[in-house]
Amino acid sequence: MATNERPTLGNFMSLTCFQYLRVGTEEVADRAPIVASGRKRGYDLIESLQLLGASEDSGLIQSKLEEALGAKGTRLCLVKSIIQKSKGSYEVHLAEGACTAGQVSSTPICAFTLGVFIGALHAITGIPMRGHEVACVACGSKECIYVIEAVAL
Ligand SMILES: [Zn+2]
Repeated sequence: MATNERPTLGNFMSLTCFQYLRVGTEEVADRAPIVASGRKRGYDLIESLQLLGASEDSGLIQSKLEEALGAKGTRLCLVKSIIQKSKGSYEVHLAEGACTAGQVSSTPICAFTLGVFIGALHAITGIPMRGHEVACVACGSKECIYVIEAVAL
């Protein structure tokens, strides 16, 4: 079966449509489906780069994710830094995230982007991860900051 390759419009669409999808889904079904979608996207991205279980090095992970997701990649966000706090524990700093584009909120709102980094860190380190957002541009912060750490087994 032929796939729709969009010869004229290519791979990108408006953030406005993304925000309607994100906000509308969260109104109906809360954040879980959006986070889950992000996790799958992050995991599959690492798999497509053939980096499953490749590294726990935060500098290498930052550079691979900035390349794939930043200005020269899919433009999900700018991956400013990833800091390893301890084994299996990372702090992700990003700017210009898709989730926060044009958004103002009293609580962090990065459900999809957070999910992408949880899935990507799980895939690249081989360690199942969970995460939460501790600072968000939508709340007035300069960066969004995610704490992502190994799921206690
Ligand atoms: Zn945020």
